[in-house]
Amino acid sequence: MSTTAALRILSLGAGVQSTTLLLLAAEGRLPRLDAAIFSDTGWEPAAVYAHLDRLEREVARPAGIPIYRVSAGNIRDDALNPEHRFASMPLFIKNQDGGDGMTRRQCSNEYKVKPIKAKVRELLGCPHPTPVPRGLFVEQWIGISRDEFGRARDADVQYMRNAFPLLDLTGGADGMTGWTRDDCLRYLRAQGFESTPKSACIGCPFHGNAQWRRMRDKHPEEWADAVAFDASIRRGNANGKPLLGEAYLHRSRLPLDQAPIDRVTAHEWGKQQTDIFGQIADIELEEGDPDGCSPWACRSGRAVEPGDAA
Ligand code: SF4
Repeated sequence: MSTTAALRILSLGAGVQSTTLLLLAAEGRLPRLDAAIFSDTGWEPAAVYAHLDRLEREVARPAGIPIYRVSAGNIRDDALNPEHRFASMPLFIKNQDGGDGMTRRQCSNEYKVKPIKAKVRELLGCPHPTPVPRGLFVEQWIGISRDEFGRARDADVQYMRNAFPLLDLTGGADGMTGWTRDDCLRYLRAQGFESTPKSACIGCPFHGNAQWRRMRDKHPEEWADAVAFDASIRRGNANGKPLLGEAYLHRSRLPLDQAPIDRVTAHEWGKQQTDIFGQIADIELEEGDPDGCSPWACRSGRAVEPGDAA
């Protein structure tokens, strides 16, 4: 059985870590990539699509690395279409009895992971339902930095083997093996990519207060879009069936335009107390939230912290 990958691909979430990997491969500091795959939910902020276009134009194409954009549909449209079988978003629920709940997150698997797997099978010449022969696999790079190494996981299919090149890099600020997110930010700044945005759906319920504030204050059209969506899902269209309670995007379980997003959460406050890295800390403080939705290591799940009262 072959132990050599047929292809080396990057799962390109277009956030800090995966952008760093693409730039390092294009520069020749990491081995050559055969392709990068971006899985599009159709509801990313404009800044993410602009960043992706720039990466393709200035980095990937000159280096001969094709970027494949794949999609399982538009998550916003599907959520509001009662006829569509919808993989649910993690919505905050106010139950009829007054208790709190949350819907199960199925969206990242449906809208991010599945389209990547389908593309990988196609690249291997075995589109579903053609079986993938044993021993035929791709090496899939995933952007996991040392500060989040616990999110590194093996692939759950035999035709993909995950690799985490950031964990093996040297040259980070503290001299230890493995780059941290701050090392990636330093590198991106030096390469002129300090504007790398977070990749997550505009209306992701895992946004923390800082991210909602930033959207409201800097991207009013996206904020209006999220507020309108929030109002539309109150009775449960986002699950494709009526809800017994009410659904909300903000953890306070208040309409988004009334939610207390100006409150600094415990997570943000903790960042303010511990960051010591000058300009990099400024980026962190401005964002103040986890790093968005990666197909294989969703970082969004930390928005609700113990002590992060609404
Ligand atoms: S960003 Fe949020 S809503 Fe979008 S796929 Fe990820 S978890 Fe789901």
